[in-house]
Amino acid sequence: KKSGNGNLRSPICCILGHVDTGKTKLLDCIRGTNVQEGEAGGITQQIGATYFPTDNIRERTKELKADAMLKVPGLLVIDTPGHEAFTNLRSRGSSLCDIAILVVDIMHGLEPQTIESLNLLKSRNAEFIVALNKVDRLYGWKKCLNAPIVKAMKLQSIDVQNEFKMRVTQIVTQFKEQGLNTELYYKNKNMGETSSIVPTSAMSGEGIPDLLLLLINWAQRTMEEKLTFMDDIQCTVLEVKVIEGLGTTIDVVLVNGVLHEGDQIVVCGMQGPIATTIRALLTPHPMKELRVKGAYLHHKELKAAQGIKITAQGLEHAVAGTALYLVTPNDDLDDVKDLAMQDMKNVMSRIDKSGEGVCVQASTIGSLEALLEFLKTPAVNIPVSGINIGPVHKKDVMKASVMLERKKEYATILAFDVKVTPEARDLAEDAGVKIFIADIIYHLFDQFKAYMESIKE
Ligand code: GDP
Ligand code: MG
Repeated sequence: KKSGNGNLRSPICCILGHVDTGKTKLLDCIRGTNVQEGEAGGITQQIGATYFPTDNIRERTKELKADAMLKVPGLLVIDTPGHEAFTNLRSRGSSLCDIAILVVDIMHGLEPQTIESLNLLKSRNAEFIVALNKVDRLYGWKKCLNAPIVKAMKLQSIDVQNEFKMRVTQIVTQFKEQGLNTELYYKNKNMGETSSIVPTSAMSGEGIPDLLLLLINWAQRTMEEKLTFMDDIQCTVLEVKVIEGLGTTIDVVLVNGVLHEGDQIVVCGMQGPIATTIRALLTPHPMKELRVKGAYLHHKELKAAQGIKITAQGLEHAVAGTALYLVTPNDDLDDVKDLAMQDMKNVMSRIDKSGEGVCVQASTIGSLEALLEFLKTPAVNIPVSGINIGPVHKKDVMKASVMLERKKEYATILAFDVKVTPEARDLAEDAGVKIFIADIIYHLFDQFKAYMESIKE
């Protein structure tokens, strides 16, 4: 159901890439420039996302002499970089991220998590642009604050230009080895088939105008239909958080539709569907200095695309990374509840039927899925007998300890980006259950592999 012509919503953008390539810094840089100069230019911090109005982007890209073709209201950039935010932004199996930035360090080229990110983007059919970051680290680089990249490059010595060309060529070859055609964006004549590379510095801002303009242009040129505002709710839970005075809240990204205070909603819970009523729709206060505890803005209604904090009763066991559903008068509540639990059912169906395997635990359903997908790949092939979302508790250790009698090496918990309670840790030690913790998927695999080998000896 579409409403109005030319009624576009903001595209939603995620940032992915290997650790230390500059994802956080790039976000800061995109966010920071105008704020520092005392002209925020309408940039607003939302829950889990930052909103850049088109006027701001037009101002910052004016040196590129872009035609005033910007039709979308702005760009909504998700604040947490990395896999997790990306995997959580989905609904019924398809990604809600409209366009991603894949960050690569120009001095390092492709790294393990670059490839992991690339595979993830491919598997979800997500559009992306490569930011080739840290160009200022090329030896002898002359800073040219916030300049378009072609202009900045012209100011560099022949040596710098040559090193740049050589590194770009190498990285294009590395991408080719991964089955991806890439090209510097200003030379890219076939944007549909060849991915664009934008050289950037998150330190001095070179290439940032190019990145912003390309993101917006690319999104609205190729996704007019996808970006046409729809009345049907598309909304995903990014985080479940306890806030003093508010109880358990959910931070959501509303991708389409309008939410109202008092709306009846259903979200997926660890112990079954949660049907509840929106008590409050909150966003941060626009003026940072006023953002003291509890100083959220209340809204009667909010229209997509937005990052929103929702308060409601009964959200304690809500699962991050699942879709939020609205119950309208025409809906059958039980049908909506079934829909809300579908993601969970899909994940549960991946547990090994033999009943033998390790236990895995992650912070969100999206990261759990990513981990399960990885464990299933032929090169890894680790069976899973149990899953859970959230911190590792005693009961999780007890569940894993069942394997001690069947297959000792599987009495293991692979914990991805979650905490382990001290009681759980003590119990695991006493019982002989191994817990491996990592915030990078392949590190979990490395640890487990080493453990398996040590057992064999
Ligand atoms: P993340 O792990 O991808 O989020 O990377 P960070 O944003 O935390 O950056 C990692 C390190 O690289 C930090 O010390 C940053 O200051 C530095 N860094 C990030 N971007 C740039 C850049 O464009 N140029 C230079 N010289 N350093 C950068
Ligand atoms: Mg970071």
